[in-house]
Amino acid sequence: MPGACPHASSGQATDRDANGVSRTKESETGMSDDADHLESLAWKLRSIVGEDNVLLHEPLSEHTTFEIGGPADIFVIPDTIDDAREVIAACREADVPYFVLGKGSDLLVSDDGYRGVIVAIADGLVNVTVDGNEICCQAGVPLHEASEMACDLGLSGLEFACGIPGSVGGACFMNAGAYDGCMADVLSSVCCLMPDGSTANIAVGDLDLGYRKSRVRDEGLVVLSATFALRPGDPEEIRATMDDLTQRRESKQPLEYPSAGSTFKRPEGYFAGKLITDAGLKGYQSGGAAVSTKHAGFVVNLGDATAADVHAVIDHVQDEVERQFGVRLEPEVRFLG
Ligand SMILES: Cc1cc2nc3c(=O)[nH]c(=O)nc-3n(C[C@H](O)[C@H](O)[C@H](O)COP(=O)(O)OP(=O)(O)OC[C@H]3O[C@@H](n4cnc5c(N)ncnc54)[C@H](O)[C@@H]3O)c2cc1C
Repeated sequence: MPGACPHASSGQATDRDANGVSRTKESETGMSDDADHLESLAWKLRSIVGEDNVLLHEPLSEHTTFEIGGPADIFVIPDTIDDAREVIAACREADVPYFVLGKGSDLLVSDDGYRGVIVAIADGLVNVTVDGNEICCQAGVPLHEASEMACDLGLSGLEFACGIPGSVGGACFMNAGAYDGCMADVLSSVCCLMPDGSTANIAVGDLDLGYRKSRVRDEGLVVLSATFALRPGDPEEIRATMDDLTQRRESKQPLEYPSAGSTFKRPEGYFAGKLITDAGLKGYQSGGAAVSTKHAGFVVNLGDATAADVHAVIDHVQDEVERQFGVRLEPEVRFLG
């Protein structure tokens, strides 16, 4: 059925705070850090997803494009939507915070890591179904792969997404976009795990998609799958557009260094990169983190940056730009841990 959610099932979800960090209501007063409690949750999670899909003390630097971040207490990889639902229900029941991780391309994880459960959606939920001009991707499908697939199928609309290194779920959360295209333009509907534990297929018009915002983010929904409504196009023309966008990206962005893309949101009436350049901050460095000399909108990891280094650069840039131009830059990158 077009626009339907082929992988849906019912389950429980938790609320998330403004940073997208999942929390049960009860745990707002503090989580148990008791090792036995976590170990018994790990056993429960193993019974759901299997032994190999539950990792303890997993370094999050291996799961973020910044290549920064300390260990997660528990890192769990659901392979199916039912498993994802059960994992989240188990975390909630155990009153342990959880965080839904996509490709980690918009995250700065603290050097201390994350106390709780990382639900690694992008490592398992990667099924795709095609129905005419519609492509339905589970939330973990890499957005650029969806873009490639659309091109191969002669479907136009997802060209803008060819260089965005996030997952489909993360892209819905952020309403990811580039070069005059964004998720709002191509989504038909998104299937979500709702805070009350039900699943719902939400039409694009009801997702409140705006500049780097969505109902997914505001209401702490978990994206399970998303359906793109595309239009027939000439594969060669689609490919040419994607090649052009890739070349523009490669010439302007410091893709040779680990980063989380644009560090700051675009302030109304300004461009973050220009403000930072005009403030004389290109190349500003703290420890192993620096403002890119190629594109001042990117803070990059020069090789051995810690999260503390990146925070120091971000703080300095915010203060200095505000001092010189009266504009307080707001981070686009999300902080975890
Ligand atoms: C080199 C580079 C270039 C980039 N260029 C662009 C660009 O052109 N345009 C752009 O918009 N972004 C860009 N980004 C940023 C990033 O790729 C996007 O924001 C992307 O949408 C993040 O997806 P993710 O899967 O990596 O999310 P993550 O970083 O894993 O998570 C980000 C947030 O999304 C939430 N989330 C992830 N999956 C789900 C889910 N299934 N359900 C609910 N919430 C979820 C997380 O909880 C978290 O709060 C770039 C990043 C890099 C490193």
